[in-house]
Amino acid sequence: MKEIILKLSELKSGKNRFSVSSTAQELDLENIEFPIVDDIKTDVEVYKNRNNFEIRLKTRFTFHLTCSRCLSEFDEEYADTSTFYIKKGEIPEIPEGMIHEEHIQTLYVSGDEYDIAPLIREQVILSIPIKPLCSETCTVPSYDSGMDEVDSRWSELLKLKEKL
Ligand SMILES: [Zn+2]
Repeated sequence: MKEIILKLSELKSGKNRFSVSSTAQELDLENIEFPIVDDIKTDVEVYKNRNNFEIRLKTRFTFHLTCSRCLSEFDEEYADTSTFYIKKGEIPEIPEGMIHEEHIQTLYVSGDEYDIAPLIREQVILSIPIKPLCSETCTVPSYDSGMDEVDSRWSELLKLKEKL
């Protein structure tokens, strides 16, 4: 996976903004259930307050999906916004029973560099639809037409049988 490094010391205090564009290949997303069309675009916002960093990632991308009902293929755009907290320093020892939500969401980094590529990859993975539908009104193709086909094949078989 190609790294997308945040250099924590180079970020200014307060708000930092930039955008990154990645390919499915760069984020090791080539072998997931549905292929990704075009690039994965992420708007990155980092709020720096001393050694605390709040990272907001707004990631947009398009899946090439197969409808789980009618099997037609279509593209659908997705967007996911997630917030992560990074703290510079070693992981503190939190006494049992003192673990709060904040501790769970906080990622600790000991050096000056933090790779956000795995976070973006996770956003895409968590967006993979379980049962994609081409439209909310999509219905399974009617069985009548399917049955006709089967019927005609059966009748061919019947003809063969008659000849024997
Ligand atoms: Zn459909």
